Amino acid sequence: MCAQLIDFTSTPKGGAEFQARISRARDILDHGGLVATPTETVYGLCADAKNDEAVAKIYTAKGRPSFNPLIAHVSDMEMAHSLVDLSPMAHKLAAAFWPGPLTIVAPGRDTAQISPLARAGLSTLAVRLPAHPIMRALISSLGRALVAPSANRSGSLSPTTAEAVMEGLGAHIDAIIDAGPCEVGVESTIIKVAADQVTLLRPGGVSREQIETLTGSALSAREQAKIEAPGMLASHYAPRAPLRLNRDHAAPGEAFLDFAGSIADTDQPAAYLDLSPSGNLAEAATNLFSYLRQLDILCQRDNLRGIAAAPIPGDAIGEAINDRLARAAAPRND
Ligand code: AMP
Ligand code: MG
Repeated sequence: MCAQLIDFTSTPKGGAEFQARISRARDILDHGGLVATPTETVYGLCADAKNDEAVAKIYTAKGRPSFNPLIAHVSDMEMAHSLVDLSPMAHKLAAAFWPGPLTIVAPGRDTAQISPLARAGLSTLAVRLPAHPIMRALISSLGRALVAPSANRSGSLSPTTAEAVMEGLGAHIDAIIDAGPCEVGVESTIIKVAADQVTLLRPGGVSREQIETLTGSALSAREQAKIEAPGMLASHYAPRAPLRLNRDHAAPGEAFLDFAGSIADTDQPAAYLDLSPSGNLAEAATNLFSYLRQLDILCQRDNLRGIAAAPIPGDAIGEAINDRLARAAAPRND
């Protein structure tokens, strides 16, 4: 199988052609197929959340461990309410950050139309209302939730372009929607909300500061020993090449991933990309996975020894960037 490409790069939103292409993707999902779709964070691998066989295919295509639950994506608040019981605090967070890159983990309803496979035996359910117009149009057209982990093999770099999806999963899925590169570039922030208590499970597109400003108190830290999300595994988001962090120069034969032009003019790394020459963290997040991927490809092609990365400030979306880099650099699981 080779995934068909559904091209939205020159299809204006709202026109007849836009609707026709949404319907084509919707029909594949309605019949239990897998469609990779852009979201504002990264490309997601979508399946009909209530279809057991379709959800099982996600785990197979990604090589994802079955203990990792999936996020249910909805197109409006009513659909969210049909899946989870949102406390007043969860509601306040949803009202402030949806549609957008925030995932809320809350008690799941018994009546939620979600395959048990996607829930991995948990009583809670992770829900997000994404902002991307194509993802939302697709969910509304289907009329029910889509589960959508990142559209890559489990453990490897997340895709921010259709080409990256094709390279990793093209042989294993039915279709890929191409709508150009993703805006945010790192995955959603995942929070668990139990009554008034808000715990950060994974930093992401909405920053800690934004959430704390809204709730008026510091986010709780998760219990260290417990893995509640695969993005919490020590090694995840990994390129094939070894990665060294917080470096001010590259070793001989090493590529360099810079931030704000920190490297000395005299240094000549074997390959070089700057996440944001002007030091803009949002721009660095957008470029993170695609630049790691490009340097990884150069490492393989030119037989380089690995990638060194410059330090990145930890505030705002820098927390998510540092989280992904730390996991990309961790000793590998296998
Ligand atoms: P991904 O879509 O692959 O970026 O990952 C989605 C994340 O949501 C995973 O890390 C899941 O483990 C996490 N997740 C989904 N459901 C739950 C839940 N009920 N409790 C905690 N984390 C969850
Ligand atoms: Mg992922």
